[in-house]
Amino acid sequence: MSREVLDRILQRSPHEPEFHQAVEEVYLNVEKVIEQNPQYKNLNIFERISEPERIITFRVPWMDDQGNINVNRGYRVQMNSAIGPYKGGLRFHPTVNLSVLKFLAFEQIFKNALTGLPMGGGKGGSDFDPKGKSDAEVMRFTQSFMQELAKHIGHRTDVPAGDIGVGGREIGYLFGMYKKINNEFVGVLTGKGLGWGGSLIRPEATGYGLIYFAIEMLATKGQKFEGKRCLVSGSGNVAQFAMEKIIANGGIPVTASDSSGFIYDKDGIDAEKLEFIKELKEVKRGRIKEYADKYPSAEYHAVEKGATSNPLWSIKAECAFPCATQNEVNVEDAQHMIDNGVMLLAEGANMPTTPEAITMLQKGGVMYAPGKASNAGGVATSGLEMVQNYNGLYWTREDVDEKLRNIMRNIHDTCLKTAAKYGFEGDYMAGANIAGFIKVADAMVAEGIL
Ligand code: NDP
Repeated sequence: MSREVLDRILQRSPHEPEFHQAVEEVYLNVEKVIEQNPQYKNLNIFERISEPERIITFRVPWMDDQGNINVNRGYRVQMNSAIGPYKGGLRFHPTVNLSVLKFLAFEQIFKNALTGLPMGGGKGGSDFDPKGKSDAEVMRFTQSFMQELAKHIGHRTDVPAGDIGVGGREIGYLFGMYKKINNEFVGVLTGKGLGWGGSLIRPEATGYGLIYFAIEMLATKGQKFEGKRCLVSGSGNVAQFAMEKIIANGGIPVTASDSSGFIYDKDGIDAEKLEFIKELKEVKRGRIKEYADKYPSAEYHAVEKGATSNPLWSIKAECAFPCATQNEVNVEDAQHMIDNGVMLLAEGANMPTTPEAITMLQKGGVMYAPGKASNAGGVATSGLEMVQNYNGLYWTREDVDEKLRNIMRNIHDTCLKTAAKYGFEGDYMAGANIAGFIKVADAMVAEGIL
């Protein structure tokens, strides 16, 4: 495939660096596959898959507790529906813009395909910052957001979920407003509470799935988690349940972070300390610094403005799990990890590792798993929530966990098999990109030029 296609895609969306990064990564892996399949080329599948089917942007006005009227911007990127309804989370964070949401929606296409479930790709959100807002303010904002979003989603059309800044509280308010507008109780969102259509294991699924995936990676080298020190970034949903599963498998998480800084606990974060983090983040909505105030074995490092690397990644450990946000691991961080003998990095966040850092890790002999494979457990379990909603029946915790475990094992094996088939032996990123692409491309071929 000529580079012209890629150039056209990038030129059509100038000033969207995150989107460019995500598209280029996939392009480099699938280029040869497209050359080998003339119909992908003749039907211009790559250019079509890179252009959202629809983008909705809208005004979200809301009143704060002082009576001021604020305005935020809402978005939904409906990226690809070739294999199922649009599916992907909503992110509420001040850094949200179209570039970030297009990159996330693009990644979501391939991730969802890898799960083996019938889900297309989408993503949405707002530049609203829930931090420091009262429950009443968050409710008024989410209700205003849903007043517009409700016109564009549906349980067979587009099924959003949570992401950064959108957890159980926000999903509850969003679901309530959708139900009121449509006068219909359907599974239009996933991540719902257990008593009102949610699935067991959905809150845990991304973090658990990440560690299930890492267990498979370690097994290829005859290794286990037992006794391994693990670097984890973030302290939200994904980080918390990744730590829980690391501990359950005998590993030792030693770090956690938020956007203000990170803690390093040299004695390790055990189950009791993890409960403190969960309570701190989910109930008190506090900052990770408070962990170091409580536990003397921990030290706190505030984020340094202008720093070229993140000292969290220079702590000695065997495994690394970035679970906060995009581009949080750069080449300097990668070099520190290689020097310290990190053997595995699996992404809990979406695109947390820069392209240069990925190349360095792979060349440095670190096993690397891209988020679209290793964090797919969240959306996979959302898919299971949709199936339960459609059928009106609910599975046990053990049932859902077993299905999640199998899905992660299958994704792992698919990545390795596909990578080997196309000459990228052992490269999880290439395997994930190619396997996800082929599944969606074949559906697009079958469905005609849309
Ligand atoms: P949460 O909002 O629960 O937690 C996010 C964590 O990352 C918080 O600790 C937050 O700190 C930190 N963080 C957010 N933005 C930044 C930033 N710019 N710099 C440094 N730290 C930051 O989100 P999730 O745990 O749900 O999501 C984390 C990552 O996992 C995201 O990349 C998301 O896309 C990805 N993901 C999530 C899935 C899910 O099911 N939830 C599924 C698949 C992927 P602070 O509190 O200071 O903002």
